[in-house]
Parts: sequence; structure tokens; C-alpha cells
Amino acid sequence: MSDYYLFHDSAKCIGCMSCEVHCKENKRLPPGPRLCRIETIGPKWVGNIPKVDFVFMPCYHCDRPWCVAACPTGAMQKRTGDGIVFVDHNLCVGCKACMRACPWGAPQWDPEKGKAVKCDYCLDRVDQGLEPACVAKCVTKCLHFGKPEEVVDARRMRHARAMAAMATEVTLRQPVNGPKAKPMKPKRKQAQDPVEGS
Ligand code: SF4
Ligand code: SF4
Repeated sequence: MSDYYLFHDSAKCIGCMSCEVHCKENKRLPPGPRLCRIETIGPKWVGNIPKVDFVFMPCYHCDRPWCVAACPTGAMQKRTGDGIVFVDHNLCVGCKACMRACPWGAPQWDPEKGKAVKCDYCLDRVDQGLEPACVAKCVTKCLHFGKPEEVVDARRMRHARAMAAMATEVTLRQPVNGPKAKPMKPKRKQAQDPVEGS
């Protein structure tokens, strides 16, 4: 992991892929490579309604990155200081060893340059104190970027909101007359008179 953490609040994600589009725009990438990806899981049926989940897949900036170990030229590097994994295109010879080594498919192929490209948390932006492009342009603000302790706060807030929403739902479900209202007894079925029935 790097000194940074990117948290995706999947409960707020609508799968619009704005993050992917702005990532590509920021890196000026041609069609093909996707440095962050929204994967769609489902649909699954919840009652009679089909639901899908969205999972955000960036590079995880691993502690011991397979891509860095596999790169024969030293182009793939883990930055000292903050641990961001990035590729130096001056050194990349396009052998694709990093693409084969990464279990998450994070390094991608740039067909125009003939080199590997990958998520580097938008190093240029981070160094200016800005958020990565995907985070800055997320339509529902479901992506959070920062130091791990800051992102934990975002997760706590999400949990608190979910608990508050659940409490409201329980309150709304209370019967109109409140808890004192007596439950209605089911009507007794009248016993059939065997004489009348005969
Ligand atoms: S490209 Fe893959 S192996 Fe390399 S740091 Fe990212 S997730 Fe880890
Ligand atoms: S494609 Fe480039 S970055 Fe990837 S392993 Fe080969 S030289 Fe290194």
C-alpha cells in the first residue's frame, strides 16, 4: 500500500463511469486502456427488482508490487516517500511483463505508445495537492482519497448515516396509534350448528 488510500463507497455508486472517463482524459489515453475500472456485479433479484453492484478497481499500490519485481528495466517503480507505484515511460520497453505479473490487471497496454500504462493516483495532480481525476469528477462523491486515517473517517460517516437511515425506517414502521394500540383479535369462526346444517 502507499501512504494514500482510495475508498469507494459502493452504496453511493451509480455506475456512470465518469471516473473512468476523466481518468482517461487526464492521461490522454486512446481507446483501450482503462486505468481504473468499474466492474458490474449482478444482476441479482431483490424481491421482484433486479439489482447490480459496482466495484471500483484501481491499482492497489501494493507493499511488495509484483509488477515492479517483474519489470526488467526498472521502469515500474514504487516511489520512495509515499509508496505510489508508477511507470517511467522513458525506461519502458513494452515487454508486458508487468501486465502478466499483476493479479488485478492494473497495468494496461497503450497501443499508440507501445508501452504499459497504469494508475499512479494522478501523480502530477497529487503533487499539486489535488485529488486524482477519478475522485475529483465522481458524480455522486462516492470516491474518497487521502491518508488512511482520513478515509477511515469517511467510512465511519457512511456507517453513521446508514444507522440513522435504518432508525428512521424503524420509526416510520411504527403503527399510527403508537405502541399502546391493542392488536386486533382475529374474528372467531362461528361454530356450525350440526342441526341447522342438516
Ligand atoms: S499494478 Fe498490480 S501488482 Fe503493481 S502495485 Fe498495482 S495492483 Fe500491485
Ligand atoms: S512493459 Fe514496461 S513497465 Fe511493464 S515490465 Fe515491461 S518495461 Fe517494465
